[in-house]
Amino acid sequence: MPLSRNTTIVNVGYRSTNFWVVSAGRNRLLFDLGWPGMLGPLLANLKRKDIPLKEIRCGIASHYHIDHAGCAQELKNQGMRLIVTPEQADAIPAMKRWTKPADNYVEIVTSDNLLLGTSQSRAFLANMGIAGEIVHTPGHSDDSVSLVLDNGAGFTGDLTSEVTIGTEDPEVVSRSWRLLRDMGVTTVYGGHGPPRPLDAMTIPERLT
Ligand SMILES: [Zn+2]
Repeated sequence: MPLSRNTTIVNVGYRSTNFWVVSAGRNRLLFDLGWPGMLGPLLANLKRKDIPLKEIRCGIASHYHIDHAGCAQELKNQGMRLIVTPEQADAIPAMKRWTKPADNYVEIVTSDNLLLGTSQSRAFLANMGIAGEIVHTPGHSDDSVSLVLDNGAGFTGDLTSEVTIGTEDPEVVSRSWRLLRDMGVTTVYGGHGPPRPLDAMTIPERLT
């Protein structure tokens, strides 16, 4: 499959959280996976954006917090393959603790996921026609990963902005941003809010 020069990015998010469909033609990947018990709004947004659910071959969560991964099993039940990196494996059962019965969370089955090391991710994505890579970007949480496309788009989940850093370890956060910058990320597609230039998320002197 030739690498697509026209990777498209569509947001199918709801409830102030972004869920990104990255597509090379009809090969589509979902980055961040919906709120628990709320497959309906996700399917409605896909329909509104003319994206057939069956074309979403696989999905990956930036990290296992319920607003980013709560709907993963419901999507798997619809035919999506869940990609999990080794850094994320332990975070899946841990997420359940943060759900309440009213969330209608469907517990993620771990035995049938695709465990994909970040070093294998470029070849995996190339097979879908997508030029890019999955990288480990801790800071907001230890299990956080980002999807970096060769066109400069970086999907970062909740990786904390250096400008508004709170209780996170600033060294860890800066290291993740430095990695993204060095990989050529120019536009940040975060888990919340509109896309922003990488420069708006970082403090230049921290990155040197
Ligand atoms: Zn989070």
